Amino acid sequence: MGKRYRPPANVEKYREPLLAILHEVVQEPNLTAPRLIQILKQHPKDGRGLFNKNDLIHAYRTLAGAHGLPPYDAQVLARLRMKPIRTMSGVTPVTVLTKPYPCPGECIFCPNDLRMPKSYLVNEPGAQRAEQNNFDPYLQAMSRLGTLYETGHPLDKVELIILGGTWSFYPETYQVWFVKRLFDALHDFGAGVDRTDEVRGLLRTASQLHPDQVTPLTLHGAALEQTYNQAVQQIYRMEMQRSRELALAVGRGERPRTDVDEYATWEELEAAHRENETAPCRCVGLVVETRPDHIDADEVIRMRRLGATKVQIGVQSLDDVVLEKNRRGHTVAMTERAIRLLRLAGFKIHAHWMPNLYGSSPEVDVADYRRLFADPEICPDELKIYPCSLIESAELMQVYERGEWAPYSEDVLLDVLLTCFLSTPEYCRLTRVVRDIPSTDIVAGDMKTNFRQTVEGALKERGLRSPDIRGREIRGRTVSPDDLSLDELRYTTGVGDEVFLQYLTADRRIAAFLRLSLPQADPIVPELVGAAMIREVHVYGQAVAIGEAEDGRAQHSGLGTRLIERAAEIASEHGYARLAVIAAVGTREYYRKRGFSDGALYQVRMLA
Ligand code: SF4
Repeated sequence: MGKRYRPPANVEKYREPLLAILHEVVQEPNLTAPRLIQILKQHPKDGRGLFNKNDLIHAYRTLAGAHGLPPYDAQVLARLRMKPIRTMSGVTPVTVLTKPYPCPGECIFCPNDLRMPKSYLVNEPGAQRAEQNNFDPYLQAMSRLGTLYETGHPLDKVELIILGGTWSFYPETYQVWFVKRLFDALHDFGAGVDRTDEVRGLLRTASQLHPDQVTPLTLHGAALEQTYNQAVQQIYRMEMQRSRELALAVGRGERPRTDVDEYATWEELEAAHRENETAPCRCVGLVVETRPDHIDADEVIRMRRLGATKVQIGVQSLDDVVLEKNRRGHTVAMTERAIRLLRLAGFKIHAHWMPNLYGSSPEVDVADYRRLFADPEICPDELKIYPCSLIESAELMQVYERGEWAPYSEDVLLDVLLTCFLSTPEYCRLTRVVRDIPSTDIVAGDMKTNFRQTVEGALKERGLRSPDIRGREIRGRTVSPDDLSLDELRYTTGVGDEVFLQYLTADRRIAAFLRLSLPQADPIVPELVGAAMIREVHVYGQAVAIGEAEDGRAQHSGLGTRLIERAAEIASEHGYARLAVIAAVGTREYYRKRGFSDGALYQVRMLA
């Protein structure tokens, strides 16, 4: 079961103790968690229990600027905020799932939960929220934004992460509708409008994807008689047929449309994009996940039109024999080609890689991992390391039962991952190590979802630290720009040179970075001819609302601007006449203010 939401305490009823607590919090800029608990104990709720942070945040929003409290201050809110780690990277992620739908992959390690899009399990974090919201993008986003708001997170800079199956295999009309409805949610949430009841009402009569209506069903890997795709097509046949017919009828202008009809036009999406450019809740990143063999130039351009800035791509292995044994259905050459196309279009490349696959070994895994960065055609910007686990519903069960595959012991896995961590270049961010699969779903294999901490602990014991970005982020630490120096790391990729610019503390902690591509290959998008490309600008520090300055925090000390100016200099020195940026919809204004003009899919600045 997911966590049950408890509405915040009634401010009028508890005004006296809440005010007393807030007066103390306001006066303590260096408030620690133990000290906050002390204060809460001094002013208990109903004479016994403690107010929670949700109560305090709501009370602060209501009472700031009255009853002797100074006006609203984001720093005070930051002191009251729950789980600040979630927004330490400067943006607030909102993850949503696509609906159950066939996937062109037949990977033997992949779960087969028919209630979910391929590869997801109903008990995984985020999956329950998706199911409870009928996989509707608007409802999922509104629900997540609501929770984040209640827990005090700033929502002016949101990264939308769309997960589930193979994005590129969903029909184009579904993709356009899905993304448009996410932007509608950002719009409504920012404007204080809530249409969730209306949408729920429409879904109740229109959709079969309602949890009350779908038979909960999981295929059993050891006794698989039909594939996920066959079963999903049977169960959701009516749903799929309905959405296909509807798309055709709406496209022909034969019938009106509701918000849950999976159809939107590119023009409608583009209008939603434009509206978001100056909205209170801006999309500063849009991520989709797909397979290498479903990327071609058209798909790359389509993703860009949707507003995507980053692509999660399943690499899994760089060994054709291992790929074949696991029935990935693509080769290493296809992975290289896909990444090349994405890089040429400026996308951030977030790869997934799996050690312990059927047919691999610890030695093969370590060599494979090193190749991720030695092969100029791969070199991912971000990486998820997902050691293969045995899920009850996956076909791998059959291989396991034949005794042909077994998960590594914890010690062996630790050894492999230690070497992997230490072989990671500074330009890559290890975003996740071990997938967050509930241990009840795992038959055999690593069950610790905090394996990253195990690896980091083992590194620390040896006096080492992971060189990757995540291991070096300054997080919530306050740094003075004067204590930072600019470092330029250069490496070669299949399409040209890359410069990774990073602002570092004396111990190489990272406060901000920029990814600059200096392509030498022909671009696939005509507007990029002769242009260098900024693929990412990231400034660390607690995410603060646009326009809100928090002294000493890296976010507002102009590090982003300085990085862009240095990138322009480097591009100019290398003979480029123009500098392009793959801007997210909600960062267009930011780049306009820094001399970039709008093109069709990118923003571009002329260089001196
Ligand atoms: S491509 Fe991804 S989602 Fe599809 S079967 Fe393979 S692992 Fe699962």
